[in-house]
Amino acid sequence: MKLFTKKSDYQHYNLGQNRLGLVPTMGNLHQGHLNLVTESLKENDKTLVTIFVNPKQFGPNEDFSKYPRTLEDDLSALKGLTNSENILVFAPESTQEIYPPGFNTEISVHGLDQTMCGEHRPGHFQGVTTVVYQLFVTSKAHVAYFGQKDYQQFKIIEKMVKDLQLPISLKMVPIAREPSGLALSSRNQYLSNQQKNEAIILFNTLNELAKTYLKDPSESESLRQKYLMSSRSWQYLEIRDAETLRIPDKNTFKVVVAGAYFMGDTRLIDNVILKVRD
Ligand code: AMP
Repeated sequence: MKLFTKKSDYQHYNLGQNRLGLVPTMGNLHQGHLNLVTESLKENDKTLVTIFVNPKQFGPNEDFSKYPRTLEDDLSALKGLTNSENILVFAPESTQEIYPPGFNTEISVHGLDQTMCGEHRPGHFQGVTTVVYQLFVTSKAHVAYFGQKDYQQFKIIEKMVKDLQLPISLKMVPIAREPSGLALSSRNQYLSNQQKNEAIILFNTLNELAKTYLKDPSESESLRQKYLMSSRSWQYLEIRDAETLRIPDKNTFKVVVAGAYFMGDTRLIDNVILKVRD
């Protein structure tokens, strides 16, 4: 395994004819991240894992400063994977490696950010696309792996790749969950055991809505409203066309049922995807 802390060192590395998979992360790796890496290791000669807590994707009142930074543990977890000799890690030693002084460019993908996380985290997805675009260009990867956990993020990056005709393909990897069903997240460590038990309400509610949608979409809409009214802990709860992220209509063949739920100060997100017709 090889570690780069400077962008220029990575750029001088000779990838040769190797096919490269990219796994962008903010570190504090858990099994969800490792599944992305494992998938990439299977499908590529080399896998570049980036570890960078990207300030541009955090809002002013969000957890940027307390976000867990655990590089040593992350490197050990990666070393433990089969074929870890094919892993390259880029963990910038400072924010300036990504945003040098005077950096003044932003990538915005319009439209898909009007709902769900985009509606409630202004600027978040610009921060994501701005860093991901740079990672695509710098890495020269052939394929990049992202989790379904951040479904809206995936759709926005997919649109950026399409609009800018970037020479990279994308793969979405299913959500890794605890046995209870709680989606794995670096933010779960902010939760007490009791909060973790309670947090399962998020996944259960999404499943309940999905089940109801299959029987009767209008009933699922009433149920969605009822859940939203029942607790101030919901930041959003949406049933959307999985392609357009708009309200489902007669052309919809897949829906995403997605929610953000506050457990105390900790914001958790999750989603389920549902095929509604062939
Ligand atoms: P993050 O470090 O939170 O930016 O996540 C890095 C990548 O890991 C993103 O593509 C996430 O969607 C993905 N990811 C995070 N949690 C999970 C999970 N529980 N299952 C699958 N992928 C995940």
